[in-house]
Amino acid sequence: MDQRADDVRHVAIVGGGTAGWMAAAALARAFHRPGGLKVQITLIESEAIGTVGVGEATIPPIRQFVESLGLSEDDFIRSTAATAKLGIAFKDWSGPGSEYFHGFGDYGPVIAGPPWRQYLFRLKAEGRIENLDAWSMPTAMARACKFAPPVDDSRSVLSHYSYAYQFDAGLFARRLRTLAEALGVQRREGRIEGVDRDGENGLVRALRMQDGGEVAADLFIDCSGFRGLLIEQTMQAGYEDWTRWLPCDRAVALPCASTRAPEPLTTARARDAGWQWRIPLQHRVGNGYVYCSDHVDDQTALDDLLGQIESAPLAEPNRLRFVTGRRREAWKGNVVALGLASGFVEPLESTSINLIQTGIGRLLELFPDRTFDPALIREYNRRSAQEFERIRDFIVLHYHLAGREGAMWDRCRRTPPPDTLAAKIDLFRARGEIALLEDESFREDSWTAVFTGSGVWPKRLSPLVEIEPLEAVERQATQFSQLIARAVASLPDHSHHFTGYAR
Ligand SMILES: Cc1cc2nc3c(=O)[nH]c(=O)nc-3n(C[C@H](O)[C@H](O)[C@H](O)COP(=O)(O)OP(=O)(O)OC[C@H]3O[C@@H](n4cnc5c(N)ncnc54)[C@H](O)[C@@H]3O)c2cc1C
Repeated sequence: MDQRADDVRHVAIVGGGTAGWMAAAALARAFHRPGGLKVQITLIESEAIGTVGVGEATIPPIRQFVESLGLSEDDFIRSTAATAKLGIAFKDWSGPGSEYFHGFGDYGPVIAGPPWRQYLFRLKAEGRIENLDAWSMPTAMARACKFAPPVDDSRSVLSHYSYAYQFDAGLFARRLRTLAEALGVQRREGRIEGVDRDGENGLVRALRMQDGGEVAADLFIDCSGFRGLLIEQTMQAGYEDWTRWLPCDRAVALPCASTRAPEPLTTARARDAGWQWRIPLQHRVGNGYVYCSDHVDDQTALDDLLGQIESAPLAEPNRLRFVTGRRREAWKGNVVALGLASGFVEPLESTSINLIQTGIGRLLELFPDRTFDPALIREYNRRSAQEFERIRDFIVLHYHLAGREGAMWDRCRRTPPPDTLAAKIDLFRARGEIALLEDESFREDSWTAVFTGSGVWPKRLSPLVEIEPLEAVERQATQFSQLIARAVASLPDHSHHFTGYAR
């Protein structure tokens, strides 16, 4: 393809964390192929500054990202010490001993007519079942520690689930770096000390390096983490703060040695001032406490975490501070922010890496030339804002509905949710319906898992569901749950598929 005068010829990526290397690998893959545009890509990172060092659980679309890079699953699992993730076990959110599971899959068979979860709501209303777990294939698999990739036949119950990965963030960035460099990405080590802008149009012209050099480019991708070196410190895009709905503002992370075979699930255990994660990898377990500094001090939070982890820590505690929210403009001028530089919704549903992935996809779709048409920028920002807000609503749902006692939990229950979420809650309570909006990351059954897991069930049901004879519905439900139980028993152990980490 011929190069045009206005084409972007040089992209500079600021930062070599998960966001930077994901962007580098994906852009190189998109542009560096025979007949593709020739775009030079330079990634600048500073070992002295380092990366945030967390971010190990994902949601299912990560698999498409890995595949789109041309990485085989086997290579990916070995090089990142990955395990499978079939969902999240939420423990103690409605008080000590309570538990629900958000599995990556549908409830009940996928058939024409009302979704099967509606029939299960009816069985619940009639007092015939307690919860939906027995109709969720990923829930049953995760609890039995079984795993096999889903089959490609929608008639089989073995196709009714999806899965994501849990991996070592450092190893993931390392693997992406090898891949990106092999595709021609230039890496530059060093600290950026200043930014030069065009006096006329305000676009970023070049980055000034500590060693006296400079990196000039047409398009800059800001992956510099929470500091937002270009998007905030230079372009002053502004930040929308969502702390009133999601008050957790700190975390402490601490890996420890595995004491048992890794389970294909993440655990999110509610605590007095937040929640604690447990992410089993092949070679270790990731742990962390996400908390609200108004309700617990840093030392108590660390002591709490130390008291909960299953073996001695393998590293010093990694302490993190954040403000949940999003950058008002993720793209401003010739700067596009990805990763933590673009905003952060706390990691309860492991959504940040997914936001990097969708941001990259959107950037490739709307890739500009050097005129930086404002229409492209507006559309990018509109979609990014929506996607962030949908995820925010989903996370707020967990806190707002949690039945747990305590000052922080009361505060989350009392705070009125965003209007978009309030409407969803009303509709679910009224009829068990979930009205998905544009750019939702989570589908109806994910919302259902959190609603019902938090003890919220619909008051009324669709008449289409109520006209079926109850006994027939119950019989079919029993058959389906038995089918799931038999299918799960036939599967191999999780570790059978997810092994092979070479130290
Ligand atoms: C407590 C916590 C838990 C999380 N858990 C999850 C999870 O389970 N799942 C998930 O999807 N996400 C999670 N995340 C988010 C995830 O960690 C991030 O989305 C991901 O790591 C991307 O980070 P980043 O690359 O944007 O930033 P960083 O990792 O902070 O990287 C920033 C880069 O910029 C470079 N840099 C900065 N300033 C300069 C400079 N002046 N000169 C040169 N280089 C510079 C740094 O050296 C570094 O390379 C979590 C986040 C937190 C805080």
